[in-house]
Formats: sequence, structure tokens, C-alpha cells
Amino acid sequence: MQTLRHIDLAPWHTLRASAQAAQLTLIDDADELKACPPDAFILGGGSNVIFVGEVTRPLWHLNVQGREVVAEDNAHIYYRVAAGETWAKLVEDCAGQGWYGLENLALIPGTVGAAPVQNIGAYGVEVAQVIDSVQVYDRFDNTTKDIRGSDCAFAYRQSHFKGLWQNRYIITAVTFKLAKSGKLVLDYPDLAAQAAALHTPADVCHAVTTVRQRKLPDPAELPNAGSFFHNPLVDANQAVALAKQHPDMPQYPSSDGMVKISAGWCIEQCGFKGQYDGAVGMYEGHALVLVNCGGSGQDILNYAAKVRQAVGARFGLTLHIEPIIVGEHS
Ligand code: NAP
Repeated sequence: MQTLRHIDLAPWHTLRASAQAAQLTLIDDADELKACPPDAFILGGGSNVIFVGEVTRPLWHLNVQGREVVAEDNAHIYYRVAAGETWAKLVEDCAGQGWYGLENLALIPGTVGAAPVQNIGAYGVEVAQVIDSVQVYDRFDNTTKDIRGSDCAFAYRQSHFKGLWQNRYIITAVTFKLAKSGKLVLDYPDLAAQAAALHTPADVCHAVTTVRQRKLPDPAELPNAGSFFHNPLVDANQAVALAKQHPDMPQYPSSDGMVKISAGWCIEQCGFKGQYDGAVGMYEGHALVLVNCGGSGQDILNYAAKVRQAVGARFGLTLHIEPIIVGEHS
């Protein structure tokens, strides 16, 4: 265990905004969580967080590593992976083994432990579909336990880990149930267009990686946090009304009879794609990705407020910021 004091958090999140942390504790053994203060914020790869101003809350970074096949039958592999493992590397390796389930989630930044929190998803697959169980450290009684995936209330970019259980559980490992054979999910236009050439999980992993590299900025070169806003969900009546007013607006059926609206399309219609206020703007190649070229956390939030205001005024839709905001802000 190592504690760093009074440090700049810019290198610790992919938006790279400067912010001051009182302390950041690094651990590589989940047993060390016993010393974790109740109000600590658990930091993974920093790809879904915005640090702003002074961060007085203690920060803990879990760098626990390790993978193990814990069970296997004719159809499935049960693969337990420690929270600190890199998500993109895991996907690449599983696809390379010929295991089905993770391939559409290639090249998503961040760690394995962060994946269940917001039920990461891309190209028609959500991680919840392949989570067998989540191992957690319980801050209330200082024990480690396994929670079934079916008990985590997974929904569109949602779970109990960012709601009801937010201050209770720290994810230490995830067990994935991956199939030895199966059907590839190729419904999204970017994959459907090349479906005839996609036969294995490795093919899909490679195709998704190529598309993402083409469309999305590399955080190492242009600081960003991937999708900056959630796609708004509306009910069927509101969807019909919106379609009447905006016949080109992309709409997709979502769970519970709700309809998903493309936030990126709305932002682009409002003129923000490739438009910057100083150091902060929406990426020219993808209107859903906010990029930061040296702005502060507050600059990012100010810009996001402008985007939200414009989309609200034009479409009557409320955009919610996807990354978690940590620190003092207005
Ligand atoms: P796109 O084709 O421009 O579509 C825009 C939005 O429409 C997507 O966000 C997607 O929602 C939705 N969509 C498209 N086709 C759909 C279908 N057949 N069924 C249901 N919903 C559909 O896509 P894109 O913006 O390039 O993104 C492609 C995928 O990469 C998406 O799944 C997106 O989530 C993912 N992505 C992830 C990040 C990240 O940082 N994590 C950044 C950009 C894109 P969903 O987002 O719900 O899939």
C-alpha cells in the first residue's frame, strides 16, 4: 500500500483536467481494503470520471490483478478476473481464445472492476449479459462476498453499484460466463455492413477495434471520457411526438417499452460537433465525445451545461452526464 499526498490528478483520469487531491492510496491486494475509509472514492482506470477543483475525499486505486478459469462445462467457461485488470486486454484475450460474449465490447477504456458499475455496452451488447457474479468487499461488515449478476439490477448503463450500493460495495473481481460456441451480435450498422466477413469472436473484436479507432479519439492523444452523455430514454408517446417534429431523428427500441434517442445526433443538430469553447469541445468525428485540450474540470462542466441547455431547448430532452463528477464544483 502506498499513499500519495497533495498531488495533481490530471494523470489519473482520461479527461486530464488538473485537480488537487488531498490523498491517493494505491493498493495491489484486495485484503488492504480493510483499511479503506468509509467515504473513499474508488478509482479505476479514470475513464469515467471528471475531477474538479479540490478533491478532499480520500481516493483509493485498486490495482489488483489475476485471472482464473473457476469452472467449465460443455457449453461455458466461468472466468474470474480481478478488478484492476485492463478491460480492453481482457476482451482481446477472450476473443482470441474463441470464447463468445465480450467481443462487441472491444477497446472500451477502463478496468474490469468498473465495467459492471455502469453496465458498459456497445454495438448491441451489455456486459450484464455475460456477468455470472461479482465479488465485492462489503464496507458495512468488512467481509468479501459474491453477488449473482441477476441481483445487481442491471439496466441501460445502470446497476445497483451506482445506486443503492454505491457507498457499500467495492468490486474486487468479476466472474464472466462465456460461451464456447454461439451467435455473433452483428445488428449495429457498423458491423452489419461487414457481417459476411465476421465469423469468430476474434473477427468481431478486430472489427469493433478498427471502427472505434477510426471514429473515436485516443485518450492518450486527445483527452476524453468516451461517450460524455447517456442516450436519453423516452416513452412511446414522446417518441411519436419527437418523430413528427424531427423525422430524421434516430430512435431505437429499448428495454421496458422505452425508446432510445441518439444523444450524439441531437448534439450535432445543435451545432456542437467540432465546436470548441477555448480548450473544451465536442469531437469533430463524434458529437457524443467531449474532448479536453487543457481545460479545468469546471471548464468541462460549463461546456456540458451549454450543450445540455441547447439540446433541452431544441428537443425538450434532458441529457445526463455519463462520467462521475468528483470534487468541488458549481
Ligand atoms: P451510431 O451507429 O452512430 O449510433 C448512435 C447511437 O444509436 C448509439 O449510441 C447506439 O446506442 C444507438 N444505436 C445505433 N444502432 C442501434 C441499433 N441497431 N439498436 C439499438 N441502438 C442503436 O453508433 P456510435 O455512436 O458510433 O456507437 C456505436 C457503439 O459504440 C454504441 O453501442 C455506443 O454505445 C458505443 N460507443 C461507446 C462509447 C464509449 O465511450 N463507451 C463511445 C462511443 C460509442 P447505444 O449507445 O445504446 O448502443
